Amino acid sequence: DESPGCVAMVAITIDSVTKLFGDTRAVDAVSIDIAEGELFFLLGPSGCGKTTLLRMIAGFYYPDEGRILFDGRDVSHVPPHKRNTGMVFQNYALWPHMSVRQNLAFGLEMHAVAEPERQRRVDEALEMVQMTEYAQRLPNQLSGGQQQRVAVGRALVLHPDVVLLDEPLSNLDARLRLEMRDQITALHETLGLTMVYVTHDQSEALSMADRMAIMRRGRISQLGPPRQVYRRPASRFIADFIGETNLLDATVAATGSIVHLDTAAGPLQSSAFPEGLRVGDPVHCSIRPESLGVQMEGSSAVNRLAGEVVRVFFLGNHDQIFLRLADGSEIKVVESSADEPVRASRLEVSCGVDDVVVLPAED
Ligand code: ATP
Repeated sequence: DESPGCVAMVAITIDSVTKLFGDTRAVDAVSIDIAEGELFFLLGPSGCGKTTLLRMIAGFYYPDEGRILFDGRDVSHVPPHKRNTGMVFQNYALWPHMSVRQNLAFGLEMHAVAEPERQRRVDEALEMVQMTEYAQRLPNQLSGGQQQRVAVGRALVLHPDVVLLDEPLSNLDARLRLEMRDQITALHETLGLTMVYVTHDQSEALSMADRMAIMRRGRISQLGPPRQVYRRPASRFIADFIGETNLLDATVAATGSIVHLDTAAGPLQSSAFPEGLRVGDPVHCSIRPESLGVQMEGSSAVNRLAGEVVRVFFLGNHDQIFLRLADGSEIKVVESSADEPVRASRLEVSCGVDDVVVLPAED
């Protein structure tokens, strides 16, 4: 694994893993197969167990039940420094008294990598994270973004099989976060490394992930590619947690290839529904704000909702329109902005049958 283009790619199997802290099941019988070379995200609200799971992959915690395998090899009880993982932390965790170059070289010294190989690898890592010109600086002479690049470089210098990132961008300002998203995605594409990335920032996960697992209370709520999770949330929790949505209570009126629903705001039809629905079942309907379009007069769209315009926010590239429906509930509509502001006091909006996602009533 001596050249940067020739990294090992490792598949990670998380097999029924449980971690207890006293009575808390921080991670509860979780199974995930992460493919070699995948950029995989663990996402979820505070306390859902994502950091604990990442720490078990790193080896900082051992599972109480279940196994963790790297390419089929059981590493469940292998200590961190013997797993060949590179870790990137939220607070960078750089050595303050060491230069950038020394920070990168340190791990190699620990692994008894001798000169001139050590210098070669440090130079290579500096280049990967575009920090060559800052090699002699101390961490406190660097911006937050530069420090985080050093932290990434320090993980890569060891030629890890797997890179683990724990909220790596949350200490950076908004603009820098976007820039670092690009850089990490590009590094992932170039190096082809398996990466596991923990965040509570859904836009980070949606924009970067090959696949993502959304955790809740120690369990996987949904796992899939970002577009699928966003377009076809499997529960009310996911629909609400990922992106913004309008949730309407409904009752199933007829089943078939299209499900007909009754809501207090009028009838809806959906082609996106779980199996086994029966007439009379209480459900929720999730409709994303951007899938609702202001209706042209005389349109024959099947899903129409009419309401009183309560508020309009102009946000530059789009308008947010809040409508109060017949039953008193409010929905949000997102429309591309135009030269003229929305002036109507009532509007009818519509969406397609695939924009209404039917979700089970429980949870
Ligand atoms: P956050 O986004 O806030 O970091 P998280 O999803 O990463 O949250 P974890 O840190 O994995 O969540 O915590 C999962 C659960 O386990 C929480 O209820 C937490 O309080 C508990 N927990 C985590 N670490 C410990 C510990 N060392 N001792 C006791 N309880 C812990």
